[in-house]
Amino acid sequence: MIELKSCPFCGFSAFIEETDLEWKDQFPYRILCGNEDCAGSHSWASTEEEAITAWNTRADGWISVEDRLPKLPTRTYDWFLVVVSDGLESDITIATYSTETSWSRTNITHWRPLPKPPDTGKE
Ligand SMILES: [Zn+2]
Repeated sequence: MIELKSCPFCGFSAFIEETDLEWKDQFPYRILCGNEDCAGSHSWASTEEEAITAWNTRADGWISVEDRLPKLPTRTYDWFLVVVSDGLESDITIATYSTETSWSRTNITHWRPLPKPPDTGKE
C-alpha cells in the first residue's frame, strides 16, 4: 500500500473512507483528513490506490507518469506541460496526449495540465 501523506491544509494524518452508499457504486473510496475541525478531503475514486495517488498529489502540480496518466481526452488530444528527460538533463516543454498515439513526445517523466492564460482583455 502506498503511504498516505498528511493533510495539506492542517498537517493532520489522513485516512481512507470506503462507502457502501449505492450512488457511490463506481467510486467508493476517498481520503479524509482525520482532524474534525478540518474539511480536508479529496473526491471519490474507483480504487484505494487512485484515491491515495490523488490525495498525495501536491501543489507543485507535477504528476509522475509512473503514478498516473492523464484521463483520456474527450477531443482528439489535449495539451500538457511535460518534463522530458534523457537521463542526464530535464526540460519543460509541451506535448499532446491522445487516445490513439498516447504522448507526442518520448522520455516524458512528469506532466501537468496547462495553466490558464493571463487575461489580456482579448478573446
Ligand atoms: Zn486537515
